[in-house]
Amino acid sequence: MLYIQNFIGGELTAPLAENWIENIDPSTGAVYSFIPDSDQRDVQRAVGSARSAFPAWSTTSAEARHDILIRLSGLIERDLEQLAQAESVDQGKPVSLAREVDIPRAVANFKFYATAAMHIANESHDTVGRNAINYTLRQPLGVVGCISPWNLPLYLFTWKIAPALAAGCTVVAKPSEVTPMTAYLLSKLCSEAGLPAGVLNVVHGTGPKVGSAIVANPDVKAISFTGGTKTGEEIARIAAPMFKKLSLELGGKNPNIIFADCNYDEMLTTTVRSSFSNQGEICLCGSRIFVEKPLYDRFRRDFVERVSVLRVGDPRKPDTDVGAIVSKQHFDKVMSYIELAKEEGGTILIGGKQANLDGRGADGWFIEPTVVEGLPFDCRTNQEEIFGPVVTIQPFDSEEEVLGYANSVRYGLSATVWTESLSRAHRVAAMLESGIVWINCWLLRDLRTPFGGVKDSGVGREGGFEALRFFTEEKNVCIRIL
Ligand code: NAD
Repeated sequence: MLYIQNFIGGELTAPLAENWIENIDPSTGAVYSFIPDSDQRDVQRAVGSARSAFPAWSTTSAEARHDILIRLSGLIERDLEQLAQAESVDQGKPVSLAREVDIPRAVANFKFYATAAMHIANESHDTVGRNAINYTLRQPLGVVGCISPWNLPLYLFTWKIAPALAAGCTVVAKPSEVTPMTAYLLSKLCSEAGLPAGVLNVVHGTGPKVGSAIVANPDVKAISFTGGTKTGEEIARIAAPMFKKLSLELGGKNPNIIFADCNYDEMLTTTVRSSFSNQGEICLCGSRIFVEKPLYDRFRRDFVERVSVLRVGDPRKPDTDVGAIVSKQHFDKVMSYIELAKEEGGTILIGGKQANLDGRGADGWFIEPTVVEGLPFDCRTNQEEIFGPVVTIQPFDSEEEVLGYANSVRYGLSATVWTESLSRAHRVAAMLESGIVWINCWLLRDLRTPFGGVKDSGVGREGGFEALRFFTEEKNVCIRIL
């Protein structure tokens, strides 16, 4: 059985306490490897090695940093099939999704920030009339912490690490203990890419032990975190009194607003995807679907029909649409929300049950894609993040009414709007309390754009130069010209 290793100071290493956690394949329920159950001492070692590596890495030329990060991106591309298989086993997602979305995005993250390293520029201000010029240095912060969740493991892990390394920081990173495998495989590629020892350190283990030790360590200057809102609160509580920079990408409960004048076929196809991709375990999934009344009955019928042909099955099979739920704990949570939806008076139009597979998947955790109707916008099912293959549908009469529903939740990550009216698209986009709005599309990503949420969905933006700026500190230098 494989024992995943930490990556500290350029070496693969066991946790100091030699304790391990079982790593489970969610499609079978069986243990298939072991994860380091690291503790504060492993984090301390990782921070020490990141500190030692910082002076040399932060003064390495942008071109040299680019070359290493591009090599790393090329190695991920070379190993795409192996990484996609590993991601699918670890997370439960269909291998086709890992092959087409997760791993290519990890490649793109490193490509994007490798080149960005050579393009970031500092400002200068000519202080006319006062015989002075100001210029702003943008210096890497030092050692930074990157903590990521289980839903898009390598995709989100690299989305943090790539800009941190490109900016000249050294990193102590922690992937989710639920999905550690591709971060482990990535750490093996780092040495092959020529990343100097200690520049990236990966410490595996639980949030309360490893995550909080990274956050509390005084030598870690910033925390880039993606995960649940509750964990974000806990991190902010520890980090704020130490005045650490924080980027928090948290939960969501995203509205999908469908107006009667939309491009119907395009909307229907995309809505199936935005509801159930990755088993609904994408922070951007539209879990509250609002449909303008004249279209409601048609949508309800066609949507349920499309959902009925989705194949729930073994994530390794090429034709699987919906794979396994990531863990038993998460499976129980999602099932409890289906029960809640019924208690709150919802009608299950399709799904609503565990999907029982034969053979290899018999003991795995699968849930049928579930559509619920008849719930008010303010019930718990419509207010709390479920993060699984469960959506609600609800009719509306007016723009004002649907904006009230959409903005009623504590979250504000993303929203989707379907309309052919240009004016309405702009009007509604401006009124939505949300960091990201997709008009007539979903998850169409351009890595240059600011990514993040408002309200309880987070603080700060990732993406583009925003992320590079996050990992740097500005210093203004004012020169008087005599
Ligand atoms: P989580 O908050 O439980 O865990 C995320 C990471 O934080 C894991 O690595 C975990 O070990 C670590 N962690 C847990 N407790 C910690 C602590 N006290 N201190 C430091 N680190 C700690 O989230 P999850 O269940 O892995 O992921 C699902 C959540 O992530 C959902 O709420 C989803 O919406 C959110 N998410 C948000 C985005 C976004 O971009 N906004 C993207 C993906 C997922």
